[in-house]
Amino acid sequence: MIRIDSLTKRYGDLAAVDDVSFTAFPGRVTGFLGPNGAGKSTTLRLLTGLATSSSGRATVLGRRYADLPNPGLDVGVLLDASAQHGGRTGRETLVLAQRTMGLPDAQVDAMLDLVGLTRTESRRRVRDYSLGMRQRLGIATALLGDPRVLILDEPANGLDPAGIRWMRDLLRSFADDGGTVLLSSHLLAEIELVADDIVVIGHGRVVASGATHELLAAS
Ligand code: ADP
Ligand code: ADP
Repeated sequence: MIRIDSLTKRYGDLAAVDDVSFTAFPGRVTGFLGPNGAGKSTTLRLLTGLATSSSGRATVLGRRYADLPNPGLDVGVLLDASAQHGGRTGRETLVLAQRTMGLPDAQVDAMLDLVGLTRTESRRRVRDYSLGMRQRLGIATALLGDPRVLILDEPANGLDPAGIRWMRDLLRSFADDGGTVLLSSHLLAEIELVADDIVVIGHGRVVASGATHELLAAS
């Protein structure tokens, strides 16, 4: 479960996130929808402790992210796939992430299979990956340690239609197993088929939220 309560982040005169409140529930995929600059990334950065709020509170599994006993294990996060270290191979990226989390190396091949990266691709350097491959690698990293919550910022960017279908199925089964998914997108088409609930943000404020079928029926 993710709870955001009256969260505000100001940069000078700009309220990048302005009194945002919503909940993402276990067993459901929550889509976080809004145009570029709406405040999605800032909200997700506040939620994962990468930025400090001006006021308000964001919790994951009942605690601030930084206060979780095992944040890397309990919560899978993919905020910026293009920021992955280019000098490492995909395989090295996963091995390093596993060791950082204190996990045995055994999951790497299973994770590569799960996200559809071939053994050959996994031995290439990330700087030579397409954005779609980086997203797949980022999702593999996020899934390490069998988290209960996934927080993904624009994970569909760079994925082709088959990749988007693959990700949709993966997020659906993660939620059906009881996990909580929060994913952002600037495209309704990318999330309307997978999100159970949608939170719409514009200019830092929540402008609509609710069950996807109700929101779409009302629009
Ligand atoms: P989105 O993810 O929806 O595209 P962002 O959260 O990245 O939106 O940005 C929301 C607004 O906050 C934008 O106007 C952006 O320029 C601004 N912003 C984001 N980070 C900073 C920062 N570190 N300093 C100043 N302004 C920022
Ligand atoms: P995204 O690609 O997720 O939309 P942004 O491009 O908004 O992210 O932000 C990338 C980085 O630049 C972040 O660290 C953000 O805080 C910073 N940033 C974004 N907008 C501004 C801004 N107007 N002034 C200063 N820093 C910014």
